[in-house]
Amino acid sequence: MLIMVRRAASGLGSPALCSARISKLSGHLCAMAQPAPEQVFNKPKVELHVHLDGAIRVQTILDVAKRRGISLPATTAQQMKERIILQEPDTLTGFLGKFNEYMHVVAGDREAIQRIAFEFVEDKAREGVLYVEVRYSPHLLSNCKVEPIPWNQKQGDLCPDEVVRLVNKGLSEGERAFRIKARSILCCMRHMPSWSDDVVELCEIYRNEGVVGIDLAGDESLNCEANPDHRKAYEKAVRAGIHRTVHAGEVGPAAVVREAVEVLKTERVGHGYGTLGDPDLYRELLAQDMHFEVCPLSSKLTGACNSDFTKHPVITFMRDKANYSLNTDDPLIFNSTLNDDYFLAQEHMGFTEEEFKRLNIKSAKSCFLPEKEKNELLSRLYEAYGMIESTPF
Ligand SMILES: [Zn+2]
Repeated sequence: MLIMVRRAASGLGSPALCSARISKLSGHLCAMAQPAPEQVFNKPKVELHVHLDGAIRVQTILDVAKRRGISLPATTAQQMKERIILQEPDTLTGFLGKFNEYMHVVAGDREAIQRIAFEFVEDKAREGVLYVEVRYSPHLLSNCKVEPIPWNQKQGDLCPDEVVRLVNKGLSEGERAFRIKARSILCCMRHMPSWSDDVVELCEIYRNEGVVGIDLAGDESLNCEANPDHRKAYEKAVRAGIHRTVHAGEVGPAAVVREAVEVLKTERVGHGYGTLGDPDLYRELLAQDMHFEVCPLSSKLTGACNSDFTKHPVITFMRDKANYSLNTDDPLIFNSTLNDDYFLAQEHMGFTEEEFKRLNIKSAKSCFLPEKEKNELLSRLYEAYGMIESTPF
């Protein structure tokens, strides 16, 4: 989420492409002329790139608004969906505007934050996800000890530290209730370098309570040379043994990916499509088995990639047996589930069951769990896939 350059918008929420309904993959369904089947890959999956604040249930937004006496421009889930969901490739303003529709409802509210984390785990369990890493900026859900206070909130008493505790609680309760594993990654924001030191500190404090890594999200044109606080935070993360990922090469060029790898010492690349613009860098990253967190539907709707899925960079990753995952990114905004991304991959990019297995094994190997838990996750996948552990990938 929060990316910079996008192609010009067509009418937001316009009925131009699809007729009346806002349903699963609306807009895309029309283009694909067929619905996503129930489960394309009906086996346990691993998801590594999804934003908590982009994965909230619409009904929860309505419930919380009602409880807090916040008036929204829509009163039914359907109307609210029509405002929030992105149906066609959009501009930056259009995409960011989606967060303005609801972030002020959940930010600063303890009950809401714990609830969205809990419900997130339930939703992922339903999608057949066995292990998920969910990311968010604690600052963007706070209303104290954050400068500036986001979403036009008034000063309150919910600070980033408590936000992390609330999310940890919601996730761990969800883990127990729905019997999957859910861990979190804390995001630095490229336009807010002054928050980054807090973020790495929170990663250290809560590393044994569910926080497994650090991320850098936002406008890729803001590099780390001009914003050294991000670099310093990542250097701290390296010293403390905190796992690292960075949004890079989503809409930005290969140079952003190179900086993420060489300066920030990232272990995974969020999206990374731009890598293909620099064949030398791509070869290097292939050789070091760098993990790319690919989000197919997201990359179309944010304008990061060509809207023709048959030209998607992940097809190159697949052919080269690269290390990558398939992810939803912001399923609330895209009105999607992980199955939709798998469906697109199968239907438009030639993905097979074998490739789905391979990429999930690679995802598990690239996750930020401690070694012992990672091995347990891998064993469960091998068993579910009917594979023996020595299968070379
Ligand atoms: Zn993202």
